[in-house]
Parts: sequence; structure tokens; C-alpha cells
Amino acid sequence: MTTPVALITGGGSGIGAATARRLSRGGMRVVVADLDARSGAAVAAETGGLFVRLDVADPGGNHAAVAETISAYGRLDVAMFNAGIPGRCGLHDFTVEGYGETMRTDLDGVVYGIHACLPRFRAQGSGSIIVTSSLAGLTASPDIFYATAKHALIGLVRSAAMLLAGDGIRVNAVCPGLVDTPIIASFRAPLVEAGLRLADPEEVAAAVETILADDRTGLAWVVQADQPPTPAEFP
Ligand code: NAD
Repeated sequence: MTTPVALITGGGSGIGAATARRLSRGGMRVVVADLDARSGAAVAAETGGLFVRLDVADPGGNHAAVAETISAYGRLDVAMFNAGIPGRCGLHDFTVEGYGETMRTDLDGVVYGIHACLPRFRAQGSGSIIVTSSLAGLTASPDIFYATAKHALIGLVRSAAMLLAGDGIRVNAVCPGLVDTPIIASFRAPLVEAGLRLADPEEVAAAVETILADDRTGLAWVVQADQPPTPAEFP
């Protein structure tokens, strides 16, 4: 039997790392693509997979990551576009550079990733794309440009799911609430003090596994503290 292969951006930490571990436990081969070579290589080694250094904001880098995956394992079945950063500025401390960096990573990085995996998925008539959006992609957030990018990802996923269904390609979003990972480190303490339960990255990884086992398309999985993961069909 052939072993399915999953490419995970931002796979060196948090949600991406938990998903890499879970999918590899479930029998998939995992390619960990991350800007951070140290953590990315560590997760790849732990999961018996491959590490690819990738800045998702680089269109060519995304194509190279797909090419390296196929060259190493001969196939690509799942592409999880998960790398993300908090907004680099807001309305009151706005800078063109900060806004641009946020969008290049949180939005453009996913567009480039999808573009890079499409030729392969189209040629084989199958493939599953998972995009890590956020609850901030469905509701208002103080991190305004992060929320802007995450909302845009929902539009991207809904539209791509519609356009690519005929090619046998599934496109879904996972929209976690607060998850206990390094990305929230700078504002974690007051959240915990306020009694908020933070989800474990493993909960999101479990939702991803559930999405992959499901054959529907166009679902936003909302993984929120104190709620079981629930799929919401896009209207
Ligand atoms: P994290 O900081 O633990 O992991 C993010 C990973 O992305 C890191 O390994 C980092 O090196 C990598 N990365 C950052 N910029 C990159 C780039 N340009 N190219 C390649 N890799 C890059 O955070 P996380 O919580 O695991 O975040 C994963 C995704 O989940 C993000 O898209 C984030 O927005 C989303 N998310 C997180 C939460 C939360 O509360 N933690 C909630 C909703 C959505």
C-alpha cells in the first residue's frame, strides 16, 4: 500500500507540529516546511519525515517545497497551509511595512502554497488542502490585519473549494479559537488570569485528521476552547 504524504507549512511549532505528529502516527509521511530550521528539522526528525526550509512569502519557495516533497516521496496527498504570524501593526501603530509583512505571511503565503500544489493535485485528480484560518477569520478581532488576512482566507477557501471540486481537490479551513502555542505568548498571561481555557494544539490536529477522513468539501472547522470541534458548512 502506498503511504500518503502531507506537506505542512509552519510544521515546526504549535498547531503544525501537533498535526505533523498526529498524521505521522496515523501512518502518513510528513514534510515539515518552516522558516525556523531548528524547530522544523526537530519535528521532521521526530516524525521520521523531511524538513524543508521555507518562507511562505516567497512564491518560488513554495514551488520548491512541493518539488522537494515529490522528489523525496514521489507523491503529495495533503497540503496544510498553516504558517502564520500575529499582525505586525494595528490601526493606531500602522506602518506600511508591518501591514505588508502580515499580509505576505498570513494571506499571500497561503495563496502561493495553493498555487504551488495545484499542478500536482490536478494531474493526479485528487488532493486535500487544509488552510489554518482562525476564529478571527469569522468574527471581529483586535488584531485587525491578522483578522483581515484570516477573513480573506475564508473567502479563498470557499471559492477554491467550489472551483476545484471538479478536479477532485478538496479545500477546507480550520478556524481555531485560542490555542496554547508560542504565537499567543505575548498576551497569554492575562488570558489565563481571566480564566480562559486555551485549546491544546492537539485538539486542532485532531480536527485536521477528522477533516481529512471526511469526503465533504467547503467546511470551516471551528475549534474553540470548551467546545468540541464542529464543522460549519460555508453558506
Ligand atoms: P506557532 O507560532 O507555534 O507556529 C507558527 C509556525 O509558523 C512557526 O513554526 C513559525 O516558524 C512558522 N512561520 C512563521 N512565519 C513563517 C513563514 N514566513 N514561512 C514559513 N513558516 C513560518 O503558532 P500556531 O498557533 O501553531 O500557528 C499556526 C497557525 O494557526 C497560524 O496560521 C495561526 O494564525 C493559526 N491560529 C493560531 C491560533 C492560536 O491561538 N494559537 C488561533 C487561531 C489560528
